[in-house]
Amino acid sequence: MTQQLPNEKEKEGIPEGLWMRCTECGDMLYRKVVEEALYVCPNCQYHFRISAQIRIDQLVDPGSFEERFADVEPADPLKFVDRKAYKDRLKSEQEKTGKRDAVVCGKGFIKGRPIMLAAMDPTFMMGSMGSVVGEKITRTIEAAVADKLPLIIVSCSGGARMQESALSLMQMAKTSAALARLDDAKQLFISLLADPTTGGVTASFAMLGDFIIAEPKALIGFAGPRTIWNTIKVELPEGFQRSEFLQEHGFVDFVVHRKDLRSEIARLVDYCTK
Ligand SMILES: [Zn+2]
Repeated sequence: MTQQLPNEKEKEGIPEGLWMRCTECGDMLYRKVVEEALYVCPNCQYHFRISAQIRIDQLVDPGSFEERFADVEPADPLKFVDRKAYKDRLKSEQEKTGKRDAVVCGKGFIKGRPIMLAAMDPTFMMGSMGSVVGEKITRTIEAAVADKLPLIIVSCSGGARMQESALSLMQMAKTSAALARLDDAKQLFISLLADPTTGGVTASFAMLGDFIIAEPKALIGFAGPRTIWNTIKVELPEGFQRSEFLQEHGFVDFVVHRKDLRSEIARLVDYCTK
């Protein structure tokens, strides 16, 4: 086993060390076991948040992924400053993750079936959607239309990127319009929702799938429970905004364990293309 540098581990969005604690049940877990279980707690089945790179490695056939649009770089036309200048924030996130922005896109195979894939990266500014994420997802959708391939987008995001203000909100319309063209071209779109899928991502492409699959107990919603309570002053039901609740209410088609995602996606692709 090769020893990874601490920095390498951080890049994957999982705390470093030989042992790790489960966020849900608090159990101390041997990292290797968790890794082999696709970063799912063997005790309580909690699905850890994983980086785009780990997600892609888990989903596609080994060695089949060809990254596309990797050269799209974020800019800071608004010269936005919150606690920190956006330009500096971008730089430190890029150094931390080794990625230019919060999505990785490309072509790959799942159980031998060719697909276009975009995976959002929660390790980069909480997977927030700015111009780069919107642009790369749009290009991935367009490539799926051009190459007549099924499209899979893995959402994992805190929502629109506030540092890009209206430019970030425009990505909702842009990605949705591209998906309308995909629909006109009668190409399949499977939306996979991971914990968390919130804000502007939920309000655009994440909810536009022909099939919407969610990982167990993922937080999926637009505004958080506190914001909703402050607005409508209604006590929210138990399990509100979790995958299983959304499935009961018709917003999610399937709740699928991480270990079954590959076979479930392959099944849906066959069902729609044969
Ligand atoms: Zn656990």
